[in-house]
Parts: sequence; structure tokens; C-alpha cells
Amino acid sequence: MIEILEIETIEIKEEIIGNFSLIEEIGNLKILMTYIDQPCDRCGSEKRISRSWTERVQTMAGISILEMSQIICTNKICQELFDKNRAEELVKINERKLAKEEQDKIRKDNIARTISERKKSRVI
Ligand SMILES: [Zn+2]
Repeated sequence: MIEILEIETIEIKEEIIGNFSLIEEIGNLKILMTYIDQPCDRCGSEKRISRSWTERVQTMAGISILEMSQIICTNKICQELFDKNRAEELVKINERKLAKEEQDKIRKDNIARTISERKKSRVI
């Protein structure tokens, strides 16, 4: 159970890493944080919050509500470059996610087949 929680946390982390940061940590979720009062780690400019929202995240323990904020760099060129890289990164994350779903399906099918084969052999 704990193991599954960790996997979920990693997946959530992938969604959040980047110009997103977690203001509040709730429940078992430990997510990489970036701080608004630290200068941009790419160019050293000031950062600002562009928007804030809450996000509901389903975990094994139930639903956690995360308070999120999107932090952007005040240096327009730096932010544009970051957005571009981020878009490319999201494509990769999505590809990984699809590959994982495919693997999960194969695994589930295999388990289902093993169970049905065992049942059959028991009948015989
Ligand atoms: Zn910057």
C-alpha cells in the first residue's frame, strides 16, 4: 500500500515540477517545492505568482486537496524559453504515461489469464 502511494507521488510530482510549486503540503504527499522569494534559478530574475488554485489528488489514502500556485519568471525571454521546454517535457511525460498504461494492461491481462488457467486446471 505504501509502495503504491510512492508511485502516485512520483507521478504527481512529474505533473507539478516546473513552474508550479506547492504552497501547502497535505497528507502523505511530498512534492518538490519552489519558493517565490528565491530568484529564478535559470536567470536570477525575480519570480511572481501568475495564478493560484486548488487541486484534488486521488491517493490510496483518499482525496488530498493541494493548494497550488504557478510561479513564473519576470524575465519574459527566460519564461518563454521555459514554457517551450516545458511543453516538450509534457509530451515526454504523456508518452511515458501511455507506455505505463499499456504495460499495466498487459500485466492485468496476464494475471487474469493465469487465474482463469488455474481455475480450469482445478476443474480438471
Ligand atoms: Zn528567469
